[in-house]
Order: sequence, then C-alpha cells, then structure tokens
Amino acid sequence: MPSEVLSAAPAATARPGAPARHLIEVVGVEKIFGDVATGHRALEAINILIEEKEFFTLLGPSGCGKTTLLRMIAGFEHPTTGEIWLQGKDVASLPPRERPVNMVFQNYALFPHLTVSQNVAFGLEMLRWKKADITARVQETLSLVKLAHFANRKPAQLSGGQQQRVALARALAPRPQVLLLDEPLSALDLKLRKEMQFELKRLQRETGITFILVTHDQEEALAMSDRIAVMNTGRVQQIGTPEEIYDHPTNRFVADFIGEANLIPGESLGRRADAIIAVRPEKIEIARPGVTPRISGVVDVATFLGSDTLMEITIPGGRLRARIRGAAKLPQGTEVGLVWETEAERELLD
Ligand code: ATP
Repeated sequence: MPSEVLSAAPAATARPGAPARHLIEVVGVEKIFGDVATGHRALEAINILIEEKEFFTLLGPSGCGKTTLLRMIAGFEHPTTGEIWLQGKDVASLPPRERPVNMVFQNYALFPHLTVSQNVAFGLEMLRWKKADITARVQETLSLVKLAHFANRKPAQLSGGQQQRVALARALAPRPQVLLLDEPLSALDLKLRKEMQFELKRLQRETGITFILVTHDQEEALAMSDRIAVMNTGRVQQIGTPEEIYDHPTNRFVADFIGEANLIPGESLGRRADAIIAVRPEKIEIARPGVTPRISGVVDVATFLGSDTLMEITIPGGRLRARIRGAAKLPQGTEVGLVWETEAERELLD
C-alpha cells in the first residue's frame, strides 16, 4: 500500500506538438477485464476532460465502472483501448508513484503502529524530503484538516471521522496535482458525512488541488461538485454542473437517478406517443379554479412533511408525485388538476 499514497514528478512523454489544454484528458477509454473477446466490458467509449482546481465527481450506481476509471487515472489499472493524459502527457507507461496523483482509500489504509504525524510524514520520507521540511509540512497539513492536537495519537485512538482526516492529510501532504477519493465518506454516519462534505469542499478550495470523487450518492455529488459525470453500465450518460444535470437531464436514466422525477408518457400530455416527459415533483402545483390543467388525477395519499406536502396522485396510465408548498392535505379520492411551467418539463431520449 505505501507506494500507492506517494506522488512524485511525472516523467512521461509529452504529446507531440499539443499543448496541455486540460489537466486530465480521458480519451476513448474502454476496459475489458479478462479475455478481450469474452471478458467483462467494464467501461466503454469514455471521454472526459477535467480542469485544474475542479471538484469533479464520478457518480453512478454500483458496478457502473466508476472505481475502475478512478484506478486508471491513478495507474492501478490500464485501459484496454484509449488514452489517459495528465498535464498534456500520455501516462500509459507511468506507474502510480510517478503520476502527480494521490488517492484516498475507502478503508483509510492507515499504518496502525505509527502515530498520526508519522502516518502523514511517511509519504514525504519516501519522497526523500528534508527532515525540517517534513516537520513543517506535517504540521501545516494537520492544521489544515484540524487534527493538530492529535499528532501523537495512534489511529486506534481516533474516531472514524478523525481517521478519515488523517488519511486525507497523508494524501494531501505532498500537494499532488490531483486527489482521487473513492467513496471516502461511506464509512461515516450521516451527520459526520454531511460535516465532511463541507470539509472536503473547504480543503479543495484552500489547496487548489483538483479533486476527483467517486460516489453513488447523488445528494453528495450535487452538494460538493463543480461538475459531475453520471455513469451507468460502463458509459458516461451526461457531464455537467449539478444544476445542468438536475434541471436538464439528457436521458431517462439521469432524470431518474438524480433527484426524483415523474416520467410521464407523452401521449397523456397530448405529445408524441413515444416521448417521455420528465417533471420534478417540486415543480408541480394544483391548478387554481379556471386554470386549464396539464393533466388531471385523483389523490391517493397526501403526507404533510412540514414545509410542504408530498402527494401521490393517480393519473391516466400511471402515477405521479407532487411536492406542494405548505399544507395541502387533500383527502384520498379528491380529484385535482395539475399544472407546471413549460420550462419545468423535459422531453427525454429513452
Ligand atoms: P461500486 O460502487 O460497487 O464500487 P463501481 O461503479 O465502482 O461499483 P467498478 O468497481 O468499477 O464499479 O466495477 C465495474 C465492473 O467491473 C463491475 O461489474 C465489476 O464486477 C467489474 N470488475 C471490477 N474489477 C474487476 C476485475 N479486477 N476483474 C473482473 N471484473 C472486474
């Protein structure tokens, strides 16, 4: 494991005549595990450009290939076809320790017999830093992750959240250009996870290091990322800012995976029969008297949630969910007309 947390100056070949336009370029990457003809195709036609100082997230359900892609950027896996460029250099032949990249592992992978300081210093010692520089950098990095008072403890004397911070400090200490984070918050309880989301954002801003996060948690991705690549079954479905992905999903998978979406058959709304129209529950309102509804339905269940009311409504050919502001506790069986702004609906490619 130790070599996996190190970083050093890259020594790869520069692309002939091509300036570095993006910090990371993943170009036409495909990954087949096992035999090329019969093996498992984990990634297909992946093209992703990541910029300096970005907080970029690979988001998707279990098995979609996000960890495989992250491990390729780190150098622990190699593409079957395609290229990965870091700072304008093809890194195909570079081992992990020679890439300007560090990785934070899900299980933290701390050395149990070393103190917090020694854990953070370890990578710098392997890079043959001078003792005084190591001491200064360890102190600075422990302050950055708010662990200065825990420098002499062993990992077993720390909480899960504190251990997570040590793992972060260790990976940040050499100031890599890119920090890869594989589901770093999944072992933490919900409250701590929310706190660490802010912490990670802060660390990324303060250090200016590009973060690439892998998660299956769409809320986490929306809260933290500058941009998100939504993945499914080995393919990138959409790349965009959280707002773009939430408000303008390009296909049914993204609309359904990010937040909640009602997917209404086109013909129920007088549209093409093969179209699917996505409308977010919070965009739906009950039509006032005299207003022509987009669709009519019958209330099945209405649940008051404090700031708004969640209604399950039966519509012709299906059901939809509407989140209505305030208390709208209509009894079961009430007929309602529903409206939403035209801009709130998206016609999706299936
Ligand atoms: P999770 O969130 O569950 O970690 P993931 O999106 O990160 O999932 P990957 O770990 O990248 O998914 O795996 C993608 C696919 O490739 C899965 O079907 C997995 O079983 C397969 N896979 C991963 N590593 C290997 C391997 N070394 N050999 C064979 N198949 C593998």
